[in-house]
Amino acid sequence: MNLYKEIYKIIKKYDSIIIARHIGADPDALGSQFGLRELILSSFPNKKVYAVGSQASRFRFFGSNDKLDNVNFSKSLLIVLDTPDLKRIDGVNPNDFGYVIKIDHHPLVDKYANIECIKEDYSSTSQMIIELSYVNKITISKETAERLYLGVVGDTDRFLHDYTSVKTFELVTRMLKDTCINFTSLYKNLYQRPLNEVRFEGYIYQNLNLTENGVAYIKITDKIMKEYGVDSASAGNMINDLKFVNEIIVWIFFSEDIKSNLIRANIRSVGPYVNEVASKYNGGGHIFASGARLKSWEDADNLVRDYDTLVNEYKKLN
Ligand code: AMP
Repeated sequence: MNLYKEIYKIIKKYDSIIIARHIGADPDALGSQFGLRELILSSFPNKKVYAVGSQASRFRFFGSNDKLDNVNFSKSLLIVLDTPDLKRIDGVNPNDFGYVIKIDHHPLVDKYANIECIKEDYSSTSQMIIELSYVNKITISKETAERLYLGVVGDTDRFLHDYTSVKTFELVTRMLKDTCINFTSLYKNLYQRPLNEVRFEGYIYQNLNLTENGVAYIKITDKIMKEYGVDSASAGNMINDLKFVNEIIVWIFFSEDIKSNLIRANIRSVGPYVNEVASKYNGGGHIFASGARLKSWEDADNLVRDYDTLVNEYKKLN
């Protein structure tokens, strides 16, 4: 049976459903999470459906989370979206649940679900939720379409990245035709930002380092972020803008997070696969877009060195 149909069959069986996604929620995680919550509730208004995970204030427009008061986890269904690894599931533990479904477009890391629905060649988890709706003939409301649209736009960076496919356009076009949402008016939600962030972007470009083989990187300290009035998540929103720069093959933004006592790395590549090296540094992700959490600036230097070697080898072969 088609996996989406099987998933829908399981959804029908459970009265209590919890929908989770990864920590550090982004538009795809949130778009698919709140989109799926509304889809289920529109077909089954009597079910209890909870969206969980810590709120990202920047993305509040996607919706608000539900409190898990008096929920019997062992009798509930857990659906985890956009999260390949156990350690990055936000707010719940799959082991507490009667049944678990994973819906994800990342390469497999941990098998933690009864149904592992993975489509590595899909642009986003939101694209999978649009497809799940059509396969099961669930009507998509305007509000749901808006969330799913922003999810696809967020992860593809406006249909720019690899894995944006004919299928992506077909599903999105069908949804836009069916729901008639005013999609251009939605971009403001994702892209509107204060001037200090733009100035911070200027700082990053001015201070970017470049290794011999084409690894660009910048170490953003807590002091600099305070100076510009931005937080440790800000740099991550700008990382994709360096995709088409002649000299750069792999690029990394390191941001110090004093509160969590770690250094976040956002990593991108237009050459070698970067997820394997990232996984050595408490990270992982897609082949051309990964992230890691480091303990020290020394680790950051080691990571840069590892990628420099990787790019060197890549250049010899290509
Ligand atoms: P980001 O740079 O935060 O946009 O992340 C790029 C990709 O790497 C996303 O697919 C994330 O799911 C993944 N990723 C980011 N940080 C980590 C981490 N610490 N561990 C595993 N995967 C990560």
